[in-house]
Amino acid sequence: MTDTVFCYSCRKHHARDEVTLVQSKGVKRWRCLKSIAESRKSRDQRDLFGKETTALNQAIHRRQSAHSLPRPVLELFGTLRGSAPPRIEGSM
Ligand SMILES: [Zn+2]
Repeated sequence: MTDTVFCYSCRKHHARDEVTLVQSKGVKRWRCLKSIAESRKSRDQRDLFGKETTALNQAIHRRQSAHSLPRPVLELFGTLRGSAPPRIEGSM
């Protein structure tokens, strides 16, 4: 029962081989690998969400700026879009 380390993340004692020393705000503390993996996972999900939000914002911005363009330019855009080859999806 001596070879345990207090994990500051889940405030529990873990076996020595389940924890690693991490530096947080200049202080070295023990943290278990499980909590590190979980925080990394949630950060990836946040990143993904952020990218989706950025793409959505860009799409909205493009749409808004297209509306503000003079009509001949809009017609040109429509022509360009119409001449584009149709996308074939799921052909494989
Ligand atoms: Zn822990």
